[in-house]
Amino acid sequence: MNTNNNALKNFIAGAADRVSLLFYPPACAFCGSVMPRSETGVYICPDCMSKLRFCVNENCCSVCGVPVPDHSSELCPECFNRRTAGHPPHYNRIVSACVYDDAAKGGILRYKSGAESGSAATFAGLIAAVAGSAFTKTKPDLVGAVPPRRQRMLQLGFDQCHAVAKLTARRLGLPYVKNMLTRSRDSRKQTELSGSERRTNLSGAFELNVPPDKIRGRSILLIDDVKTTGSTIDECARVLKERGAARVYGASVAITDFLGE
Ligand SMILES: [Zn+2]
Ligand SMILES: [Zn+2]
Repeated sequence: MNTNNNALKNFIAGAADRVSLLFYPPACAFCGSVMPRSETGVYICPDCMSKLRFCVNENCCSVCGVPVPDHSSELCPECFNRRTAGHPPHYNRIVSACVYDDAAKGGILRYKSGAESGSAATFAGLIAAVAGSAFTKTKPDLVGAVPPRRQRMLQLGFDQCHAVAKLTARRLGLPYVKNMLTRSRDSRKQTELSGSERRTNLSGAFELNVPPDKIRGRSILLIDDVKTTGSTIDECARVLKERGAARVYGASVAITDFLGE
């Protein structure tokens, strides 16, 4: 009996340790390796730190944030063409923390699948750092999140962008407006479509979900996980500005590097 009790006690102690590790794992947000606890709440191991391409170290487009290999150019070819053609995007500027490459993908995909919810604090820390230093002239007044696809929400039961956006707002000392926008319909997955198809696909996909007074004349920072063409933030910005927002900025954990280098 005693032996059994000891075995039971050991089992419970072991289980408790496993549970606390499960809920509070100070682990690198990108590779999952265990790290010493840090007061910053941002966990990136030295190995990932050296592998990740941080946008702050790159020459990035001053509108959409994509790395531009030509260091003499402030705009990427697409933003340059859109500006020349008189069709600039609806958003004012997008910034991202790092390039969505092999070093960044694993951790972000694990987070998006719901497996690493502890990584939200690290991603928020990265976004707050990049947004805090980029938007200094006209600071954002409010923080919101790109609304999740409904189907994804049903599958996962959690909105990964909301968690990161809320923590980003807290770090920046700005109010967070939950569900600022909603999806009026589920558009097709953007990654399956070409650039022009993406814009048509999203037309009418988002609706303002708060009283327009809340956003009128305000500068809004929208948080996304991965920025690809920027058409999602662009369509969100179109809706927000149509309803009176003065400025719409975007910030994401990572950005796809279409131009390559
Ligand atoms: Zn790592
Ligand atoms: Zn650009």
